[in-house]
Amino acid sequence: MGLTGTAEAASTSAATALPAVLTKNKIYRSGTAAPMSCPAPEIRSGSAASVKRFQQALARCANRFWATRFKAAGLRYTPPRLQITTGSRSVCGKINANGAQYCPEQRTVVIRITKRDLRDQIMMNLAHSVAHEWGHHVQELTGILDAQNTLYWRSGRTQRAALSRRLEMQAECLSGVFYRSALDSLPSEITWSQWIDAVGQSRESKIHGKPRNLAYWQDRGYDAGSARACNTWTAPNSRVS
Ligand SMILES: [Zn+2]
Repeated sequence: MGLTGTAEAASTSAATALPAVLTKNKIYRSGTAAPMSCPAPEIRSGSAASVKRFQQALARCANRFWATRFKAAGLRYTPPRLQITTGSRSVCGKINANGAQYCPEQRTVVIRITKRDLRDQIMMNLAHSVAHEWGHHVQELTGILDAQNTLYWRSGRTQRAALSRRLEMQAECLSGVFYRSALDSLPSEITWSQWIDAVGQSRESKIHGKPRNLAYWQDRGYDAGSARACNTWTAPNSRVS
């Protein structure tokens, strides 16, 4: 879920004049999506090839989804490159431990298939690598990543951390928007509320923020089915802690 080549963090308390690209982005007016069908192949236990095929199928679905939303907002969508690897290096350097990242300069989503992915394949975990990183790609195409990056370098340490969390929470919300349309057609083994409970109880990460807030933003995006729910930049600090 990491980002490389860009800032990871910041808070907005001192940044009273947030750029409109963050607070009034066109993507917030991309409307509510209809359900879509995502033909995803079965995941076979122990097979890296089948995990790869599943994630490629989900990536095609995410491209189809966001291309429609961008069009509705009067924006142009271009798909990111996708690199799926079992190794530890990617087009943007070393892959961090959690296995998926977005490289803004290369506009590339990198997914590392780990041994754990092959052992217990929870479909939602595999799907979330795609859905979350596509959220970062949406942020890149809409100028949000650049704007966050500019603010980041002007900010002190605490604000940087808060900016990073607002960025990550927004990617979570955008993943929820995608799930609202796509999830019913996927072979999920758990319900949405079970997934949200699991996210809320996951281990805390300093970069991403509190699990209960990550769950809140994913669920908020899912509930609205629209990116209008995903303006994390003006949300109270308690919602992005
Ligand atoms: Zn992320």
